Amino acid sequence: MLTAIVGIGWGDEGKGRMVDLLGESYDVVVRYQGGNNAGHTVINERGKFVLNLLPSGILRENTVNVMGCGMVIDLEHLCGEIARLREKGIRITPDNLKISSGAIICMPYHKQQDCLEEDRLADKKFGSTRRGIGPVYADKYMKKALRMADLTASNLAERLSDLVEWKNLTFAGYGAKIDASEMLAWLKKYGEELLPFVCDVPAYLTEAEKAGKKIMFEAQLGALRDIDLGIYPYTSSSPTIAAYAPIGAGVPALRLTDTIGVIKAYSTCVGEGPFTAEMFGDEAEELRKAGGEYGAATGRPRRVGGFDVVASRYGVRAQGADALALTKLDVLSYLEQIPVCVAYEVDGVRTTEFPYGEALAKAKPVYEYLPGFHCDVSTCRRREDLPAAALDYIAYIEKAVGAPVKYLSVGPEREDYVQMF
Ligand code: GDP
Repeated sequence: MLTAIVGIGWGDEGKGRMVDLLGESYDVVVRYQGGNNAGHTVINERGKFVLNLLPSGILRENTVNVMGCGMVIDLEHLCGEIARLREKGIRITPDNLKISSGAIICMPYHKQQDCLEEDRLADKKFGSTRRGIGPVYADKYMKKALRMADLTASNLAERLSDLVEWKNLTFAGYGAKIDASEMLAWLKKYGEELLPFVCDVPAYLTEAEKAGKKIMFEAQLGALRDIDLGIYPYTSSSPTIAAYAPIGAGVPALRLTDTIGVIKAYSTCVGEGPFTAEMFGDEAEELRKAGGEYGAATGRPRRVGGFDVVASRYGVRAQGADALALTKLDVLSYLEQIPVCVAYEVDGVRTTEFPYGEALAKAKPVYEYLPGFHCDVSTCRRREDLPAAALDYIAYIEKAVGAPVKYLSVGPEREDYVQMF
């Protein structure tokens, strides 16, 4: 069984929470893209954990966790994350953590470049998380980056020095400069700690699949942040969609058996870019507070809105989701009426197709209100426990986006869910 767990929206749908829940049935959890620019928050009996780079399966004793070649890894950040988890008693050894030798290293100068550029852009900024992700992916595709395997290369110092010389051409434009020997010291310090985990991930995964192991692919960020299908240029710098999972894992021949799209009962978005369903004022503030919508990696308040039928339907199609995990339904308990963005209006014309480019920037939300359930659903554990209005809301979403809700999350903790079928 090869399952992808992916986000349908702008990210922060609760993917980490779903991977943590469903992880029990899987032997291997694979992260296939992205870096430490977002965070998964997982709460279980061992405590509260924020994971930026490590796959969420790391919190389960018998799960093997894989970081694929599609990822970009800030070595210092990863060492810190491992240390923080170990302090809480989580076992992390080369047996349960495998880092692809092909994963790209995110250097301190990538982070610095990200900051310099965001500062230069000032009011026109993209809302980057300033973790260096855009610059490091750009360097990857210019073939001017280092991979984990390069940590042991005999010519590492020379390659790094060439890269730094090249990078300094860009940095000069910002009035900044990188020192190659500092960078080498950084690579050695943190690289040495991580080397025991670096291995041939494609070989490991190929064998694991042959041996009948159950493999789960864990996405970071949602469909709308995909570099190709998302709201470019307000996207992430890598493909976030399920179809990329086997590639970012390093084994394109792996065939997904199912894709579970994680989707929130309302909408949120961190950072800049078109977010048509956005609500403002008291209505937004109430929802933000009810949902605790503040970024896991940055603490930034998230933009919020009602469930967006147009964007969600598009996200479900982009992901090829067979089933949905609907999260945070409990957050809507306080509402007498549930706001839903049922269509967009572009230049006075109503549409339910997700628009591109300028049309998307101009789109205005068409809101309707559905009856709220207006009671606490956080203790519901079976379909029968749910009030009729909640079931109606779920049925509405299923019909609107064209996929069935298999899991319903009604709270942040592992067991706060209902299996719908
Ligand atoms: P991810 O990046 O997609 O994993 O999402 P985040 O971790 O950024 O955001 C999800 C947040 O919502 C976390 O703080 C979770 O603990 C929390 N969460 C997930 N599912 C639920 C739910 O059903 N109800 C509530 N109240 N919180 C949830």
